Amino acid sequence: MKAAVMRAPKAPLSIEDVTISKPGPREVLVRLKAIGVCHSDVHFWDGAFPAELPVILGHESAGIVEQVGSMVSAVKPGDHVISILSPFCGTCEYCLTGHMSVCHTVNREQFQRAPTEAPRLSIGKEKVGQFLNLSSFAEQILVHENTLCVVDKDMPLDRAALIGCGVITGVGSVFHSAQVEPGSTVAVIGCGGVGLAAINGAAIAGASRIIAVDLSDEKLQLAVRFGATEVINPSKGNAIEKVKEITKGGVHYSFECVGAKQTAEMAYHMLRPRGVATIIGMIQPGVNIEIPGIELLVTEKRLQGAVMGSNRFRIDFPRLVDLYKQGRLHLDDLISDRIGLDGITAAMQNLKDNKGSVARQVVVLS
Ligand SMILES: [Zn+2]
Ligand SMILES: [Zn+2]
Repeated sequence: MKAAVMRAPKAPLSIEDVTISKPGPREVLVRLKAIGVCHSDVHFWDGAFPAELPVILGHESAGIVEQVGSMVSAVKPGDHVISILSPFCGTCEYCLTGHMSVCHTVNREQFQRAPTEAPRLSIGKEKVGQFLNLSSFAEQILVHENTLCVVDKDMPLDRAALIGCGVITGVGSVFHSAQVEPGSTVAVIGCGGVGLAAINGAAIAGASRIIAVDLSDEKLQLAVRFGATEVINPSKGNAIEKVKEITKGGVHYSFECVGAKQTAEMAYHMLRPRGVATIIGMIQPGVNIEIPGIELLVTEKRLQGAVMGSNRFRIDFPRLVDLYKQGRLHLDDLISDRIGLDGITAAMQNLKDNKGSVARQVVVLS
């Protein structure tokens, strides 16, 4: 099968013939139909986060099941599926207490092949790294069955793919991590794919004020389409003061969707007492966040993180598909461009350059 292979940081991905193994007992072979290009791919491509090379990036995908292993029960050939980078084991403390999104961070090896087994991906004798349990910049993926969720066949797969990372991360953080209440006030910092999904989620949850914060006026205009009631461009004034003015003292919930020290601290400082700031952006290893310690006590403000929207994806994905079909989840507006596998390098460069118009660029395969 063809895949876009990363051989060196920042170098163009090369389209190569890659050998993909046959499914083991709990593995599933999926023919991909659509793959979103996410900012997290860029973090590994530009070397900000380490990757084992060569590797196939990509982690936001949807497709059709082709072949299943002998013990697979969750999916069958012909099923339309959305993938997720956070598989669950179903038996650990986190899974059994309903926090299955954390499982993959502690049980990583369970979802991969042992070093003694043949690799899932290879080129000749060379092993190719599988990125985040998926490696989706490819025509096919071979994954653990618990990375997949079946969805209705009438759901368009290019839009379904977005649910698997950006949308569940944004919407899930609002629904599950912060549990935004109807009538409450929300600020979302960063209006890329994840931020727009968080804004959309806050609108569905019934927030009374949804304040979008971004340096790009173009993205702020897009944010209004997703449900933002106010927009703030921090290059034109103090965003924290503006949020406090609009909400008479600060928001109940803030979401940081950039992944930087300054915006994480901004998310905290925008809160009113008892408010909750949720960090969704990927903050680089070694970067620390500073907040005034005494405020935690005096104001009861809270700062928390959320991985993959604290998802329970086999429950969440079909619900999100329904919300899309009802016109409440705006996946159509999230797609800014449709490209081929050979367009991924340029797509990642667009994200890195922070082009205002880029929401989600989606690879579409026939
Ligand atoms: Zn992603
Ligand atoms: Zn588990």
